[in-house]
Amino acid sequence: MYSEKINELFSEQLSAWELARLNYRGLSKVRTRKLSFDGFEVLVQFNPARIISSSAKVDVRSIEERPCFLCSGNRPKEQTGIPLDDDMVILVNPFPIFRRHLTIPCESHTGQRIFNNFSLMLSLSRTMHLYTVFYNGPQSGASAPDHLHFQAGNIGFMPIEMDFTEGRHSRLVLSNPGLEIWKWEGYLRGIITLRGNDAGKLAGVFGKLFESLARRQPERPEPMMNILSGYSSDEWTIHIFPRKQHRPRQFFSSGDDRLLVSPAAVDLGGVLITPREEDYEKITGEDVIDIFSQVCFNDTEIEALVSEII
Ligand SMILES: [Zn+2]
Repeated sequence: MYSEKINELFSEQLSAWELARLNYRGLSKVRTRKLSFDGFEVLVQFNPARIISSSAKVDVRSIEERPCFLCSGNRPKEQTGIPLDDDMVILVNPFPIFRRHLTIPCESHTGQRIFNNFSLMLSLSRTMHLYTVFYNGPQSGASAPDHLHFQAGNIGFMPIEMDFTEGRHSRLVLSNPGLEIWKWEGYLRGIITLRGNDAGKLAGVFGKLFESLARRQPERPEPMMNILSGYSSDEWTIHIFPRKQHRPRQFFSSGDDRLLVSPAAVDLGGVLITPREEDYEKITGEDVIDIFSQVCFNDTEIEALVSEII
């Protein structure tokens, strides 16, 4: 039912809202390169419309001084949405990475936090099963760290989905009825994946994981992380990327090694966004290895984390 409503929303918005129409049309001209690694690929997407998000200032002062673009009173007048339970609304994202890219904000201006909203994320995934729902933490890529929101993109786009199905880099570490825990190895980014049909158990183990991560980063509003969540064949698959850093050294460099790359959930799902053409052309596999190692947990750190939660 929601798939139809979302399709209708897209047709309506792409005909009535010029910014969205132009940016979705522009997506057909977006260029993509493939970088090959040991048993998997990372796609690099040259997407100039994403410069706003990739270079967004998310420090406290800049955030306090700008009008919040997710609050209903500040949204473009052409933007309409589909109301959901729990005070959420589905909107077309006017700066797409995916062929179908949605933003799902709360109708109230409340902070970007996952701890009490993980079950909400699960229910969104089930409602929107043709989409991967994703969460970027307030210090891990969200450009509105002060306003609760998720995003969603059509399934079958991010390499991580197929890589998990093929299972070359993911290892099952715990299997209970309704819940499995997987860890990834040799994938350049440390990931813990939860799979199962028991929402309560999934939320329980997520809670433990959150607490373990919070002990490592006590000074932060919440531990840094990105999450991708999908729902198919009556079960959830949730990839959790604990983070060590928001942006890599190359982002801040003023030298030749500057790369305007600001990794968030989609980048870690295997589609690295470069809003500047020069970065798209020059970025190498070595750069990707270096960037992921700065912002993500390594295999040893994931191993330690897993042993704390099982
Ligand atoms: Zn707001």
